Amino acid sequence: MRGFCRFLIDCIFPRTCVSCGSFTGDRLVCGLCRGQMVRADAASRLSGPSSLKVISPFLAGDVLLDLVRFLKFEGGTAVVGWLGREMAAALELRPGKTGDAVIVPVPLHWTRLARRGYDQAGLRAAEGSRWTGIPLRRRVLGRMRRTMAQSSLDRGSRCSNVDGAFRLRSAGRIMGRDVVLVDDLVTTGETVLACCRALSEARPASVTVLCAGRVRPCKNKVERSDCHMLE
Ligand SMILES: [Zn+2]
Repeated sequence: MRGFCRFLIDCIFPRTCVSCGSFTGDRLVCGLCRGQMVRADAASRLSGPSSLKVISPFLAGDVLLDLVRFLKFEGGTAVVGWLGREMAAALELRPGKTGDAVIVPVPLHWTRLARRGYDQAGLRAAEGSRWTGIPLRRRVLGRMRRTMAQSSLDRGSRCSNVDGAFRLRSAGRIMGRDVVLVDDLVTTGETVLACCRALSEARPASVTVLCAGRVRPCKNKVERSDCHMLE
């Protein structure tokens, strides 16, 4: 009966591909667009002294950016389950083998949360927690002020934009633990580095960044003109 209802809903409101708009039945992304998504085979590290480890299921491309934009600006919370599962799989951890790891989402400023109505990184972190069995620690970090979109700034302004924007709220919840820091996309890396500076006060055993995709900036501009809106 439930399947029949789903069939009727799909007939009345056929789902279209988040990226190209073609009809897909019950899928978020059509086969053609899905085939354009490039898997990230190995973890990468941010350049610089931190050499922070970044894990993502995909390399950022047009389809992934469309998915993240759909989630952030069009209320597409249906993306959360699928991307959350992909991100959890990229960690290559199985339930019961999570050690001392905890998941910490990059916090959203309360004004953005109020406007959007949901915290997309928090939702995906919760989904990742569900699939891996790694406990979620939501309120470890606080975002103390709003920041400008990192990718809209030149290299010199990126660090100062987010420096001091995050504050450690609850050191005891991550002390000595392996922290998995969850964000949507990593472009310049300054946002996650600012989070790491705040997290380091609690002396975690390690910090690894888990994101949906990594966007490579081209000097002072990003590869796609609208992806600065997504960070
Ligand atoms: Zn498509």
